[in-house]
Amino acid sequence: MTLFDSPSFEGHEGVHAFSDPASGLKTIIAVHSTTLGPAAGGCRMWPYESAEAALEDALKLSRAMSFKNAMAGLDLGGGKSVIIGDARKDKTPQLFQAFGRAVERVGGRYWTAEDVGVSPADLEEARKETRYVAGLEGHKAASGDPSPVTAEGVFRGVRLCVERAYGRDLNGVTVAIQGVGHVGAYLADKLHAAGARLIITDVNQPALDAVAARTGARVVAPDAIFDVEAEVFAPCALGGAVSFDTLGRLKGRVVAGGANNQLASPEVGQALFEKGMLYAPDYVINGGGIINVAAEIRGLESDSAFDQAWVDTKLDTLALTLAQVLDRAVAEGRPTHAVANEMARERIAAGARR
Ligand code: NAD
Repeated sequence: MTLFDSPSFEGHEGVHAFSDPASGLKTIIAVHSTTLGPAAGGCRMWPYESAEAALEDALKLSRAMSFKNAMAGLDLGGGKSVIIGDARKDKTPQLFQAFGRAVERVGGRYWTAEDVGVSPADLEEARKETRYVAGLEGHKAASGDPSPVTAEGVFRGVRLCVERAYGRDLNGVTVAIQGVGHVGAYLADKLHAAGARLIITDVNQPALDAVAARTGARVVAPDAIFDVEAEVFAPCALGGAVSFDTLGRLKGRVVAGGANNQLASPEVGQALFEKGMLYAPDYVINGGGIINVAAEIRGLESDSAFDQAWVDTKLDTLALTLAQVLDRAVAEGRPTHAVANEMARERIAAGARR
């Protein structure tokens, strides 16, 4: 398979492969679109089985960032980078410095940040070679942990979906949360404060114990979370939580959570819609995190401090955007994930005409 035949290739502006034999770096930087602004998206370090698998991931993830950034109302396009390697044993300062040089060669059309396998300390090394790095600590524009902002956006999204699907507020509603890591735990606190009842699961016992102690949540085994009586299923762990296997087991009418890539396939989104369930498109409802990162890029570019008021305004707009997606899905009798993709493409096309 070549780049242009890949099912994940969709008019990407540029796909850049760099190697640095001295450090062992092999990286692909995919720039899907810079129509709305410089492409932004994290760097993932993963022991890909092949260069082809790494390319597929970079293509898919960079396109998803274009859609996410467009729906979050940011002046940013979509990009993503992948480093082929094992984050547990292949990391060296030299490798990330070489990665920084690779980012620099893309000439400001791509801003990098953290993703799976890459930490702020790694980004510090990259920063020695390029300024196009967000997610650093200890400077005036630093945005810090994006999880609380992501969770606030998700909380508002859950509240909206419950209003739409059940015509009520969150008081007394049961929410099943899969994964109480960074985002899931903050979400649990917010839902608890709003009077929701919680059922939670995780593979990490200390995380479960801490959230259960704070919120009185009922704890169930990981596989049991799909079978509980709950109005809302909130995926906050890994991707693919909603599949043809799990969909039939969910009892509630709402799927709304923080995880990326919640639908195992687009066909699952169609099936969910045909079942009469309401799905909050993942990359819309979880856009708070990238809004936080965008505030850092904004600060770095203008040599100004992190602007919390700007983040708050963007988060308010994100909630309105999710409402627009739900409205249009009802008006057109179509699944929400399809409407969100269409709206994202429209926003990018409108940017191209500006
Ligand atoms: P995290 O690693 O802190 O939390 C994930 C949790 O899921 C962990 O506690 C883990 O033990 C648990 N988990 C893993 N497998 C599980 C399973 N099979 N069943 C139940 N629990 C399981 O990650 P996070 O930062 O909270 O992110 C959660 C999700 O949200 C991810 O999909 C991430 O890509 C997405 N996301 C996060 C942010 C953010 O700001 N952190 C922003 C946008 C999207």
